[in-house]
Amino acid sequence: MVLMTVRKARVTCPLDCPDACSLIASIDEESNTLLKIEGDPRHPITQGFACVKTYRYPERNHHPLRPLYPLRRVGKKGEGRFERVSWETALDEIAGRLREVIGAHGPEAVLPYHYAGTMGLMQYEHPLTFFRALGASELQTTICATAGREAWVRSYGDRYGVDPEDVPQARFILLWGINSLHTHTHLTPLLKKARQNGARIVHIDPYENLTSRFADEHIKIRPGSDAALAYGMARAIVKAGLHDRAYIARMTTGFEAFMQVAEEWTPQRVEAVTGVAAETVERLALEFARARASLIRTSYGLTRHPGGASALRAVILLPAITGAWQHPGGGALLTTSGAFALNRRYLGGAHLLAARPTPPRQVNMTQIGSALTALEPPIRALFVFNSNPAVVAPRSDLVQKGLLRDDLFTVVLEQALTETTRYADYVLPATTFLEHPDLYTAYGHYYLSWNEAVMPPQGEARPNTWVFAELGQRLGLKEPTLYWDAETLARSLLDTDHPWLKGITLERLKAEGFLRLNIPRGFQPFTERAGTPSGKVQFDPPPQVILTEPTPEFPLILLTPPAKHFLNSTYGHIERLVQGEGGEPTLLVHPEDARAFGAVDGARMWVRSQHGSVVRRVRVSEAPIRGTVVLEGTWWEKPAPDGRGINWLTGEHLTDMGEGSTFHSNPVRLEALD
Ligand code: SF4
Repeated sequence: MVLMTVRKARVTCPLDCPDACSLIASIDEESNTLLKIEGDPRHPITQGFACVKTYRYPERNHHPLRPLYPLRRVGKKGEGRFERVSWETALDEIAGRLREVIGAHGPEAVLPYHYAGTMGLMQYEHPLTFFRALGASELQTTICATAGREAWVRSYGDRYGVDPEDVPQARFILLWGINSLHTHTHLTPLLKKARQNGARIVHIDPYENLTSRFADEHIKIRPGSDAALAYGMARAIVKAGLHDRAYIARMTTGFEAFMQVAEEWTPQRVEAVTGVAAETVERLALEFARARASLIRTSYGLTRHPGGASALRAVILLPAITGAWQHPGGGALLTTSGAFALNRRYLGGAHLLAARPTPPRQVNMTQIGSALTALEPPIRALFVFNSNPAVVAPRSDLVQKGLLRDDLFTVVLEQALTETTRYADYVLPATTFLEHPDLYTAYGHYYLSWNEAVMPPQGEARPNTWVFAELGQRLGLKEPTLYWDAETLARSLLDTDHPWLKGITLERLKAEGFLRLNIPRGFQPFTERAGTPSGKVQFDPPPQVILTEPTPEFPLILLTPPAKHFLNSTYGHIERLVQGEGGEPTLLVHPEDARAFGAVDGARMWVRSQHGSVVRRVRVSEAPIRGTVVLEGTWWEKPAPDGRGINWLTGEHLTDMGEGSTFHSNPVRLEALD
């Protein structure tokens, strides 16, 4: 008889998702096996359920593709052939190679490439201390949120918005460019409550998806044309006299200049540019304004265009025209992250950067392909952690070509043998969120949380920060914060006078798991002040309308929005989730576009952009707006018919503000297979 000693432990989900769920892990202590993940019923946002993805975390935690020991390359780069080595050997050899690189080329020849594969501050951001102590090149982390951040900061200053727990009080909800049923699952119960309370929910998105079907109405919009619709709505609101003159006068700057631009956006012009019928523009605007407690829940998808930051600004300024911020549940929400006013002075060696007379070389992660293939002087040593650039970064052709360079020394810290690990000189097994302690903020609610390590690591997996501390010792780095443990870092982060963190201690977090920031119930931001230089909500300068245009050679715009069963490339190797997505990546093509390109439902075709080509199975569907093709999910390369990821098609061009990625703006065409 096999004995099982099952223990339950509370943890916070570490993934790049606004929900930052509180979860209950069931662990068999005898075999050190994660048996089950469930949602924590105590957490006001999680409400007792996880998502379809994270219910599968036990499979991920114990997957055959999880590296359990340090691995050293034995084959050619790209082959993914390794031998097991001890930690001592791996760390000594890596430190030796680093010494050589720095000795010959200087510390800026070293680059960390990292992102939000885990959101815990210790394992997400604190590893950067090592690189800042070295004086390495600095990665600009632009792949997701910088355009949105810039848009919000220029408009409102403070990066927070409506309390999600107040969503049920909203009377009209625009889900604008967000497929929340895929990406923000725990918004759904709040939306349902709002609907029970009488709210109408409208989804604005270029393609019909799960969220469109949940909403009361779906408005299809041409990708990248959101600013035009927002201006058209602003014009209609003011023409109807539904703007809040008192709020505008008291709380905003630049309204007149904004409205001068809006005046040019007649409903007919908006229709011509956005594809949204003129009467819909007016009806939507009036409904939004008359509801008073109207809410715009948006996200970063609509920023992934050359004019993405301006478009987002135009959208999020609408509640400032109607004064919606003054009504419970009214306003806008992009992120809550700015409310976590932690003392970040020592996080990731921020103090080391601040003390430098000149900043180190900056490398934009959206352009990592060009950086690895063309940057002078070249990057000679690359450390990848919490990310999978071979698949998730644009220009996969350049990224993979760069990773193949014989003169590039690459170390990958990972929880799964991803495509990127195939190019590594060393793969170092990383712990999962169950195996290391960490502090978690959130960007979809106002709860801070603490995870203990609730099970021993699988194999010889180690936390990222352990690896960098070991390397730091070998390289003789004296920076004390490099050697902090998670508790020391957490105490430093909590060492602040900010009233929203008053009384929140590590001891309380340890006892309770998660704590709400001291944000008052009925929180109504931007009714008294904004965090901008003027202290007001800033309409100035008026957002530009920069459209995403196809070309005669590539007349379709490719969208690559999130899939339900993956989170970026996390979970892309979990077979049941791959099957949940249909087994292979599929391209949605509008029937008229299908006719124009000779596409047949179920057949495979070439999809070509100016950067490259992939083969995909076509699904002819009314879901996308005409002229737009949609491929949901950042799939791993293996399930694709040609073994190529979708980012073989996407380019490195940047957003108008924030130097962000533009994944949803790439022109493509379809061709029959030879
Ligand atoms: S991925 Fe998001 S919804 Fe799923 S468990 Fe994690 S935080 Fe919750």
